[in-house]
Amino acid sequence: MAKIHLLQEKLKDERGRKVIFLSHCLLNENTRYLGGAFRKAGIDELIDELQKQGIGIVQMKCPEQKTWGGVLKREMLMGYGISGTPMNAFRKPYMLFFLWKSRRSFRKIAKDVVAEIKDYIDSGFDVVGIVGIKGSPSCGVSAALDLKKSAEFAAYLEIEKLNKEYFNQYCYKKCLVNKSGIFFDELKQELYAHHIKVNFFEHDLLTELQGKISNINFK
Ligand code: SF4
Repeated sequence: MAKIHLLQEKLKDERGRKVIFLSHCLLNENTRYLGGAFRKAGIDELIDELQKQGIGIVQMKCPEQKTWGGVLKREMLMGYGISGTPMNAFRKPYMLFFLWKSRRSFRKIAKDVVAEIKDYIDSGFDVVGIVGIKGSPSCGVSAALDLKKSAEFAAYLEIEKLNKEYFNQYCYKKCLVNKSGIFFDELKQELYAHHIKVNFFEHDLLTELQGKISNINFK
């Protein structure tokens, strides 16, 4: 331990010793649900602000990408427009399995994130916080889509007539609830279990949808 402290002193460099953990799609919107990317890549103003403040960015894995069948989240898409087909009979029992499987997988990812946060803290770094996505069923901090409601909504979509404006407007209107998304719920529980206190911030997906800039106060 003393040797590590001595080496850190002798080899002191320019690193800011501050990091923040970001939901994956804040840096890469290619992982968003179809119809849910409103920028080509990431949220520039948010990234610029963190750079300006000398805060290193740690990009968390996208839990939906890792759990729901890759970047297109194919398992979720399978449920779109299935009302009126024989598959609809299995929708409700499958949803229970889907929720169980999601929570189990998201918990594993959350454990890895918290282990990384703990390592930064134990190594003397400042973890400024974790940034989620308001409105996401997985990464919402204060509000999220309810997955059961959104699966119901998706099942009754008429795919031929579908467009992203209709999808976004009605999905949020019908399915938004004031609670954390499943991944962030697991993150919070895992942090609590390790007695780690971290600030949570939230990028608002509905604000982004309206073309407004992201305005998070990190201070
Ligand atoms: S909000 Fe979370 S789960 Fe959804 S695309 Fe972004 S990182 Fe993935």
